[in-house]
Amino acid sequence: MIIIKTKEQIDTIREGCKNLATVLYKVGEKVAPGISTKDLDIYAEQLIREMGDIPAFLNYRPEGASSPFPASLCISVNDEVVHGIPNKNKILKEGDIVSLDLGTKHKGLFTDMAITVPVGKVSPENLKLMQTTEQALQVGIDAARAGNTVGDIGYAIESYVRGQKERKYGIVEVLAGHGVGIAIHEDPFIPNFGKQGKGEKLVPGMIVALEPMLNLGTKNVTIDDDDWTFRTRDRKNSAHFEHTILITEGEAEILTKI
Ligand code: MG
Repeated sequence: MIIIKTKEQIDTIREGCKNLATVLYKVGEKVAPGISTKDLDIYAEQLIREMGDIPAFLNYRPEGASSPFPASLCISVNDEVVHGIPNKNKILKEGDIVSLDLGTKHKGLFTDMAITVPVGKVSPENLKLMQTTEQALQVGIDAARAGNTVGDIGYAIESYVRGQKERKYGIVEVLAGHGVGIAIHEDPFIPNFGKQGKGEKLVPGMIVALEPMLNLGTKNVTIDDDDWTFRTRDRKNSAHFEHTILITEGEAEILTKI
């Protein structure tokens, strides 16, 4: 069931999203060769709690999961797509790309956002992968207007990615955007591919998280023995960008923007 948010809920989620974006960009600035992913997680949790918010992913256990997520920040390095678990022995090195995915609970309501950042200087193909993924998110946001559908968002993202000349990027299909706010994952499910005019209609007051994940190679992914970490099947790199947005009569409002 799609939940349309009240004005009060929207105001609270907007406030929470500003906090989240502030935290996530600060964590992004900490990314450098030599730092462990556990250190980034500790820093993120500290910043969230300083703002009076709660890390939403910590101990989050979706239906069917064998264990709760053991950290605040999902940190996915290189061929890891999403849900990488922070580890003190996992040290970032020059040339890596790192996806940081963070959710919070602010005054009882949820927010969600992700960015992929370079560690020092990265290769041109990795840079292009990150830029294309971020732009794919923007294209999705541009299509997220009242009157359009979930399929229009997926179609816009897929068409943009397919139009890239330099490479046939893999669009991850098993993971998707989603409604957010009252819960961390709500309806509708928003794939990063689709058909124009298909799926649920977008209406003002819906709050959704859009989150394309693009791979340098295959779209197919595997899950590690930890039951959390999604990784590309061919072990080529992956990037991920996500914003929480509000559907309005006109252009969507990016809530996780500062
Ligand atoms: Mg999400």
